[in-house]
Amino acid sequence: MLSKRLVKAIGTPKVALVTGGASGIGRACAVLLAQNGAKVIVGDLPTARPRFDKWIGSKNLGVDFHALDVTNGDQWTKIMQEIEDKYKTIDVLVNNAGIYSQPEPTFLEQNEDYWRKYYSVNVEGALLGTREAIRLMKKSTSDESRSIINISSNAGQIGMPDLPTYCFTKGAVRMFTKSIALQVARDKSNIRVNSVHPGGVDVFQDKMDLIPVEQHAAMRVQIDSIMEGMHPIGRGAKPEDIANAVVFLASEESAFMTGSEVTVDGGYTAQ
Ligand code: NDP
Repeated sequence: MLSKRLVKAIGTPKVALVTGGASGIGRACAVLLAQNGAKVIVGDLPTARPRFDKWIGSKNLGVDFHALDVTNGDQWTKIMQEIEDKYKTIDVLVNNAGIYSQPEPTFLEQNEDYWRKYYSVNVEGALLGTREAIRLMKKSTSDESRSIINISSNAGQIGMPDLPTYCFTKGAVRMFTKSIALQVARDKSNIRVNSVHPGGVDVFQDKMDLIPVEQHAAMRVQIDSIMEGMHPIGRGAKPEDIANAVVFLASEESAFMTGSEVTVDGGYTAQ
């Protein structure tokens, strides 16, 4: 068990909601936040429940699953009300849920429905979550900071020719993060908002059930080769590499950070 960086001075756990937390980066965040002492709630699509049970529920970390479609404002109201009823407040929100395809269809093949879908999940999902979290966080009387962490991407920091729509959504999350951080800083409410910008993260393990078993070995070799060539550090990120940055931003160790972007991309954008 790790040190309890997410237990408040009064001895109660910080309450953390991770969206899209049943697999990949969100799964690693939920597990590491809980191992650091937080009370964690995963909000994910109902279809993600079996993955949650397999990767998180089986670990007996006391992490709860709530059905949440981040694009649905009513569902956000409901989950925040349930958190308030049970825990009085929320201390940490990780806006992690997101969609991507690698590569995208070419831009001329994309249509309005495609753009709206990406905007709806990747941008509006983070906006709705941030609004509802701030409403509840403002009711807190704790001296300790509350933290909203938006999972953007290094595709939100630099242009990528195969990912114009994804880059647009992740760039929007980046600038939203800085602006809302400044707005909530005005009233000294001690709510911090920061973004995390991963490079290529190897989430293959979490998706293996979607791929025929006989293809696993070849895909493993292919993914390792792509990841190694892509990052100056010579490998892809593990979901835990990103979760470590998220735990830091959730904890009081980052109490003076707001409006910041934390890049975790093995040197990709340093080139
Ligand atoms: P995964 O697909 O492994 O996990 C995303 C989770 O979000 C899934 O459980 C998915 O459910 C869920 N989700 C999708 N749509 C919604 C929705 N409308 N409401 C609630 N949950 C939803 O993704 P990753 O872990 O790879 O990525 C997580 C975040 O990190 C994303 O924002 C992504 O853009 C970002 N990122 C990822 C990188 C990578 O290389 N993997 C690199 C940089 C950034 P389901 O599986 O059932 O669809």
